[in-house]
Amino acid sequence: MNHHCRALAISCIDFRFVSKVRKYLVDQGLEGNYDLVSLPGASLAIDEAMKAVEISNRLHQPSEVYLFDHEDCGAYGEDNSKERHISNLKKARDEILTLNPNLTVKLMLVGFERIEGID
Ligand SMILES: [Zn+2]
Repeated sequence: MNHHCRALAISCIDFRFVSKVRKYLVDQGLEGNYDLVSLPGASLAIDEAMKAVEISNRLHQPSEVYLFDHEDCGAYGEDNSKERHISNLKKARDEILTLNPNLTVKLMLVGFERIEGID
């Protein structure tokens, strides 16, 4: 039986950001309508996430991917700079789009205070 969802979300495991990410997705009208992959570091773990992206794609045909990195990410270790997150988010987007050119990939940086979209 076919069952589709609108989006796939990829985020870090960090408990401090789980509710913020969920609230953001719900605010986008995606409640009950997204697949979820959680891996330490999110964009840092894109190679591991790709298998889940493919399976989500095959089973549920989402049209959008939300990729959430966050401030103060332990998986990133010493260099947690915004520039490094942005650079890795963009690399991850390229990797997803190379294999799945029909998807729209949205890059997000989650802070303690706010969530910022990255172009
Ligand atoms: Zn993290």
